[in-house]
Amino acid sequence: MYIVMIAPECAPVAKVGGLGDVVFGLCRELEIRGHSVEIILPKYDCLRHDQIFDLRLAFKDLWVPWYDRAVHCSVYFGFVHGRKCFFIEPHSDHNYFNRGAFYGQVDDDQRFAFFSKAALEFLLKSNKHPDIIHCHDWQTGLVPVLLYEMYKHVGMTHPRICYTLHNLQHQGVTKEHILRATGLNRHSYFFHQDRLQDNFNHAAINMMKGGIVYSNFVTTVSPHYAWEILNTTQNFGLGHTLQIHRNKVGGILNGIDYDVWNPEVDRHIPRQYGVNSLEEKYENKRALRQRFWLQDALKPIVCYIGRLDEQKGVPLITHAIHYCLSHGCQFVLLGTSADARIGQHFARLKQHYNDNPDCHLELSFNEELSHLIYAGAEMIVVPSQFEPCGLTQMIALRYGTVPIVRATGGLADTVFDINHSDRPCHERNGYVFNHFNAPGLESALHRAIGMWYSYPPHFRELATNGMRYDYSWNHPGGDYLNVYELIRDK
Ligand code: ADP
Repeated sequence: MYIVMIAPECAPVAKVGGLGDVVFGLCRELEIRGHSVEIILPKYDCLRHDQIFDLRLAFKDLWVPWYDRAVHCSVYFGFVHGRKCFFIEPHSDHNYFNRGAFYGQVDDDQRFAFFSKAALEFLLKSNKHPDIIHCHDWQTGLVPVLLYEMYKHVGMTHPRICYTLHNLQHQGVTKEHILRATGLNRHSYFFHQDRLQDNFNHAAINMMKGGIVYSNFVTTVSPHYAWEILNTTQNFGLGHTLQIHRNKVGGILNGIDYDVWNPEVDRHIPRQYGVNSLEEKYENKRALRQRFWLQDALKPIVCYIGRLDEQKGVPLITHAIHYCLSHGCQFVLLGTSADARIGQHFARLKQHYNDNPDCHLELSFNEELSHLIYAGAEMIVVPSQFEPCGLTQMIALRYGTVPIVRATGGLADTVFDINHSDRPCHERNGYVFNHFNAPGLESALHRAIGMWYSYPPHFRELATNGMRYDYSWNHPGGDYLNVYELIRDK
């Protein structure tokens, strides 16, 4: 099969969170299985160019219709750790992708509507006829709309669209100008409840809703999240739309790339180890302590790695830091925030614990460092308010780092409580709490810390149980291919 991914992120060249990991990992798996895969990305100025091999001009003069003019673009091609990637670079005063950041600009709606249109225009002009176009999140929600309302009529009759929802919190709700910009000119037709009109703000259009309505199949990144968005109020207003289209909605658990995340061969950690040599993990703990000037003491290291965002449970992350430090643990945090208020909160906390030999808060994005923390810590907390899939707990499991998570979304699909799960003992791999509050978190932390201190062999067994799980792309790769086959035959 010939598959084209149109995505706003791809690890490690353009990664903000899990979406980037998923695009890279899934593409790799599909290629291993013999399929032809290409990825289309914006040519952000903040791409990690050191991760692109053999970057060269692939399509010099691509003219993308935009409002009542056309924008001149160049398309580059390069390999990202073996994946074939095209990068679209517009030459216009808007400087859409020269902002020093991936997201968070006031005109994000226009930036990604433009990208969606340019990606299709590129496929059309370069005579590419993929069997499947796979697009991701609100940033590419207009791809299926434009394909079926516009590009189909000029020859792109072949592709079918799989649309993956990584997070319903951000939907690309915007105004009518996006219709004019992209050439979707029939105002009253598109401003309709069955098409792009936002379910709450009737004067707005919703790009993610458009993606759901027009694509051939919609996936979310875990079965439990699929259930939650269809059956609870955790859908940020898209429940009605999802219900209407429920026959084409399904949940596929993300995988993680075991070539990147594998303590047996990880180049970013000082001592490799595996399920039969877990004691070697201690060398990484020592290295982590040295890196952050933490004291050498008989204490477990608890960590948090991830975006610092309301979704991730800011009050509970904060509470976990205080609780762990006052209950015989060390704490390491690696995270950044797109929200200035939250960023300041953690900056103050960092200052507060500056001289504490048991705590280090690293407020930056550092992929290499994250490997050392996964390998050096003994526990990871993931107290999310909601979590479509969550990769950090899956990576941690692979590194023998015991997850302590809230039972929501993909966390509920991947972590099984040592005391309360109905799974057999050898399949239990962590600590789970239900209620999004301090007592809930404490109940799980208390059990985990108690086990580490009082029953080290049991704690070790829990860690190795987690390491034995197969959360690679093997299963999800097959599931996505089944979806592609299903829609291709339609
Ligand atoms: P989300 O997609 O909501 O951000 P996920 O748990 O699905 O959360 O994916 C997070 C990914 O981003 C993981 O690979 C994690 O290691 C990585 N990550 C998050 N924050 C940082 C950071 N500050 N530095 C390095 N890697 C990070």
